[in-house]
Amino acid sequence: MSFLIGCHLSAAKGFTPMAHDAISIGANVFQFFTRNPRGGKAKDIDPDDVKTFLELAEKHQFGPLLAHAPYTLNPCSNNPSTRRFAHEVMTDDLLRMEHVPGNLYNFHPGSHVGQGVDAGIDMIADMLNDILSPKQTTTVLLETMAGKGSEVGATFTELRRIMDKIALPEKIGVCLDSCHISDAGYDVINDLDGVLAEFDRDIGLQHLKAIHLNDSLNPTGARKDRHAKIGKGEIGVEALTRIINHPALKHLPFYLETPNELDGYGEEIALLKTLRQP
Ligand code: FE
Ligand code: FE
Ligand code: ZN
Repeated sequence: MSFLIGCHLSAAKGFTPMAHDAISIGANVFQFFTRNPRGGKAKDIDPDDVKTFLELAEKHQFGPLLAHAPYTLNPCSNNPSTRRFAHEVMTDDLLRMEHVPGNLYNFHPGSHVGQGVDAGIDMIADMLNDILSPKQTTTVLLETMAGKGSEVGATFTELRRIMDKIALPEKIGVCLDSCHISDAGYDVINDLDGVLAEFDRDIGLQHLKAIHLNDSLNPTGARKDRHAKIGKGEIGVEALTRIINHPALKHLPFYLETPNELDGYGEEIALLKTLRQP
């Protein structure tokens, strides 16, 4: 089984430059922001760039592309114009994703800003039901959150409650962030099997489509969401090694979101390849 490993890359120059960056550091998957992480207009899609990218991805046997929505996208804001922005951005992003069909689009479910988890879950599901279409080829992923502030989705059951309200469940999946679930209180350091059993019970492992592989600057349950380099945080290299080799996870694509530039990502990818079991 091939090891699908890569990292977050800058999308500034298009798909083909990202693919070259990925290849240069030994990655066969990558994540990118669909637009400035604080929002704003997305760059126009260049069909020649897409064509060259798809050829490169095929030649180098890339795994799935993971697009990440801007952080400012909050479907359960208490501000109607912020909710409208979330709707507009996701609608536009999913249309654009059809230029590279069959890939993954990840977003932070949102922060309910005092309206309560129940209201948050309803607003997130309402937006998704409004946007998801039977014809889309992209799978939209809910990211597991650290539980900072009023974030929705720091427990597997909250994600399940969103999923239960979705009219097109086959268009939805989950992206598990190792830093976030540790911060949210799941003991990935001492009890990965138990955490994954809980994930399977609450969500279903068949819905897990991608892993954000990050160490955390803070201990289990800190709810801080500060990523650390691999082996330089509280999770540590042994626990992260168990994650990349776990039989329930090892077929999935792993995306690093550690505080690194391209060369640092390359070093982490090289390290993880030595830690990956056949
Ligand atoms: Fe994220
Ligand atoms: Fe993440
Ligand atoms: Zn994070």
